[in-house]
Amino acid sequence: MSPTSNNPRNIALFGSTGSIGKQALEVIRRMGCDRVTVLTGGSQWELLAQQAREYQPSLVVVADVGAYQPLKETLAGTGIQVEAGQESLPEAAGTADYDLCLNGLVGVAGLLPSYEAVRRGKTLALANKESLVLAGDLLNKLAATTGSTILPIDSEHSAVWQCIQGEDIAAIKRLILTASGGPFRDWLIDRIRNATPDDALQHPTWKMGAKITIDSATLMNKGLEVIEAFHLFHLPPEQITVVIHPVSIVHSLVEFCDGSIKAQLGLPDMRLPIQYALTHPERLPAEFTTSDITDWLPLEFRKVEPARYPCLALAQRALKTGGTATAVLNGADEMAVNLFLDRRISFGDISNVIESALDHCQAAPADNLEAILAADADGRRLVQEAVTAVGAA
Ligand code: NAD
Ligand code: MG
Repeated sequence: MSPTSNNPRNIALFGSTGSIGKQALEVIRRMGCDRVTVLTGGSQWELLAQQAREYQPSLVVVADVGAYQPLKETLAGTGIQVEAGQESLPEAAGTADYDLCLNGLVGVAGLLPSYEAVRRGKTLALANKESLVLAGDLLNKLAATTGSTILPIDSEHSAVWQCIQGEDIAAIKRLILTASGGPFRDWLIDRIRNATPDDALQHPTWKMGAKITIDSATLMNKGLEVIEAFHLFHLPPEQITVVIHPVSIVHSLVEFCDGSIKAQLGLPDMRLPIQYALTHPERLPAEFTTSDITDWLPLEFRKVEPARYPCLALAQRALKTGGTATAVLNGADEMAVNLFLDRRISFGDISNVIESALDHCQAAPADNLEAILAADADGRRLVQEAVTAVGAA
C-alpha cells in the first residue's frame, strides 16, 4: 500500500523511545499519512506517555513492569490501553491491529515481536538486525509461507536495496558494506585494548544507542550486518565484503558481474533509510537530507585491518558455521558489551570472550525459536564462564 493513498497504514512501532524509534516517529509525523497504533518502550515511561499523547495509539507497552503504574495513571482517561512486561511485546505484535511493524528494539528482545509480525503476514520494517542474526532462516521461511515482507532500515542494507532496484540478483558479483571504523580506526592497536566505555561511545559519524555504538567500535556491528545482508539478499558469505569508509557518506556499494559498481550516498542520517522503508518504491521529499556534495570530505576507502577489528572475523566465522552459531555470537556479544559498559572487562576482552564462546558452543539447526533462544542464552553463559575463568568479573 502506498503511503500517499487515502487509506492510512497502521504502524506498530517497537522501541519508540530509542534512537531509531524517535527518528521513526519524526518521519511518520512529517509524512502525515500513516497512523501509529502501537508504541512500545523499555522503561522510559514519561517519554512513552508523551509520545502516546501526541500519536494517540490504541496500545502502549512498557517492558519494565515497575513503569506500569505511573504510565497507566498518566494515560488515565485517554482510552489508550496500557500493558507491561517483556512478554507483552510479542503479545502486542501477535494480536494488535497494524499493517506494518517497525522494529527499533535493540538486541534479542526484538526477535519475538519480529517473529509474530512475520507469522501474521505483516510487513516488517527492520532496524533490529538481531532478529535476522538470530533467526534469519526461520524468519525467511516463515515469510515465504505467510506473505510477509521484510524491509531493511539499517543504512547499509537500505543502500544495497536501493542499488539493486531493477537489477537481476544473479548479476551481483559482491556487496561492499561500508563501516566508519568507529572511534579507534586511527588509534595505535596496542592502545585500543584498554579503551574506556567513554572512549568507545564517541562515534565519529553516527549518533545511536549504546549497544550499537560499542559494536561499531569493535566492528561487531559490521559483522552482524554481514549476517543480516546474507539473510536479506541471499548471497554466499564470500560475496559480502566490508571496507572502512570514515565519513559515512557512501552507505554501501554493489558490484555487478560486468564490473559496474553502484553506490548509494547521503548524509549519515537514519531518517533517510527509515523513510525509504516506509515509502518505497516511491520517494517523498525530505528537507533533512539536503547537502552540498562539494562540502563532503574525500570519499576515502580503506581495507579492514583484521588485528584492529577481530570481532569482524568472529561474525564471519559464525556465519560460515551456520545453524545456531550466529545466535551464540549474538548472545555472547550482548553479554560482553554489557560487561564492558559496566567496566567489568576491558575493551580488548570483548573479542576474547566472544571467541571463547564460539570455541565452546555446539551449533545446532536454527529451525525453531526454542533452539535459537537457548543458543543465545548459551552465548551469554559461555562469556560469563570465560570471564570468571580469568577472574575478571
Ligand atoms: P536504543 O538503545 O537507542 O533503543 C532501543 C529501544 O528498545 C528503546 O526504546 C528501549 O527502551 C527498547 N528496549 C531495550 N531493551 C528492551 C527490552 N529488553 N524490552 C523491550 N524494549 C527494550 O537502540 P537504537 O540505537 O535505536 O537501535 C535499535 C536497533 O536498530 C538495534 O538493533 C540497532 O542495531 C539498529 N540500528 C540502529 C541505528 C541507529 O542509528 N540508532 C542504525 C542502524 C541500525
Ligand atoms: Mg548499519
